[in-house]
Amino acid sequence: MEALTTRAKEVSRKPMSFAESLYIPNILKGMFITFGHMFKKQPTIRYPEQKREFSPVFRGLHVLNRDEQGRERCTACGLCAVACPAEAITMEAAERLEGEENLYREEKYAARYEINMLRCIFCGLCEEACPKDAIYLSETFAPANYSRKGFIYSKEDLVIPNPLTDPEGYAKAKGAPRAINN
Ligand code: SF4
Ligand code: SF4
Repeated sequence: MEALTTRAKEVSRKPMSFAESLYIPNILKGMFITFGHMFKKQPTIRYPEQKREFSPVFRGLHVLNRDEQGRERCTACGLCAVACPAEAITMEAAERLEGEENLYREEKYAARYEINMLRCIFCGLCEEACPKDAIYLSETFAPANYSRKGFIYSKEDLVIPNPLTDPEGYAKAKGAPRAINN
């Protein structure tokens, strides 16, 4: 059969000499290589104790934003779902009732909002499509999970803490400001 590349090497099948059959030179050679790596700069980090700094344009886990009065910004227009190339977003809209003005900024809001993180490719198109600054990709990432269901993020998982009742949680979830959000 014709070889696809020229990288293949012919294996030597000649019997080993006495010195080779002791393996000691090769073991020492291997240990020397390992020892040499101990003094080189480590390319890996000791996660989770150490965390790598994210790029300023890093796109992580989604956050459903609130305004400065703590009201949900999303008006369930569906533009993010339409823009999503992975069809990862689903939602159900509901009408805001009288007395709910302090909860929802617009007359219509998302009663149900879900993102399937297994489908999501973190492209950020939902963020760009949103006319209400209601969704953005934060600086955190979806933690590991043992079940597929655990990667379906509901509205409760996504909505940012209320800045009036939990300013610390709000600031933490919001992360460092990025040009695209401001
Ligand atoms: S980041 Fe991209 S793939 Fe993920 S939900 Fe938004 S639009 Fe869809
Ligand atoms: S997040 Fe933005 S684009 Fe998506 S439904 Fe809500 S308001 Fe519309």
